[in-house]
Amino acid sequence: EPVFKEKIWGGDKLQKLYQDAPKGRIGEAWLYSAHQNGHSLVTNGEFKGKSLEELWANHRELFGHMPGEKFPLLIKIIDAGDDLSVQVHPDDSYAKTHENGELGKTECWYVLDCSEKSEIIYGINAKNQEELNEMIDQGQWKRLLRSVPIKPGDFIYVPSGTVHALKKGALILEVQQNSDTTYRLYDYDRKDDEGNLRELHIEKSKDVVSLPFVNNQAQPIIENLKDGTKSTLIKSEYFTVEKYVINGKCKIKNNQFFTLVNVVGGRGDLQVEDEVYTLSQGDFFMLSALAEDYSFKGQLDIIESHVEFP
Ligand code: ZN
Repeated sequence: EPVFKEKIWGGDKLQKLYQDAPKGRIGEAWLYSAHQNGHSLVTNGEFKGKSLEELWANHRELFGHMPGEKFPLLIKIIDAGDDLSVQVHPDDSYAKTHENGELGKTECWYVLDCSEKSEIIYGINAKNQEELNEMIDQGQWKRLLRSVPIKPGDFIYVPSGTVHALKKGALILEVQQNSDTTYRLYDYDRKDDEGNLRELHIEKSKDVVSLPFVNNQAQPIIENLKDGTKSTLIKSEYFTVEKYVINGKCKIKNNQFFTLVNVVGGRGDLQVEDEVYTLSQGDFFMLSALAEDYSFKGQLDIIESHVEFP
């Protein structure tokens, strides 16, 4: 069960995807979250009503006895009804010291939908710390920020330390570390409903921006399957994200601690042992370590996320 978050920049697309989404400018649906700022719950079966965090704490067998204090991932859908603030996230070591033991935040985006000529902000033009500080202090945002065009189906890897922002019109599936730490660098001088500017975190942002900017986009590795393709979009120390495009039937061996599945397009079925579930766009579920193998049938676009064995 997702946790919905109202945001100053939110839109109305999440209500179309999830009928139980509340009214208002909903910016985020946290689909899989064991973070204190929003717990997602199990909707059916033996663990109905339990939170992901409770399962992680008390039923580690579902996660193949994976070690670790915190469930490692958080997956959201973000609806940018307007531009999001220009921001940057710390890495693990900075967050641990400055944010009370939080994890850092490396994230990645799969573009579910966007308007024509959509763009994101990704990276900066400053070459060193001095140039960065100067451009920030003088508000030279156009000169500092890199704009990149996006289209549906694009995948963007955003390591901690990368200055970034989603812009109006983008609907994004975000896979990230289990963290809610954001340093806002620039918010377009926007005011909220009460007429207040949102807080900025200029000094922390200057501290954590990776310099010089390096474009870390990886080419997907594509494998042909009998009835479709499997693309490895990213394999990093924090998460692996794969996309399946299935037209027919596809049987997958489950050899992960856990697999988080998001149906991003099409219709079809999931079969796990003798249980069959109908799938359509927006559906999501976790395959536990106890599911040995599973198969998809139909015409489906699937994003799967997991973490590698240490
Ligand atoms: Zn971010």
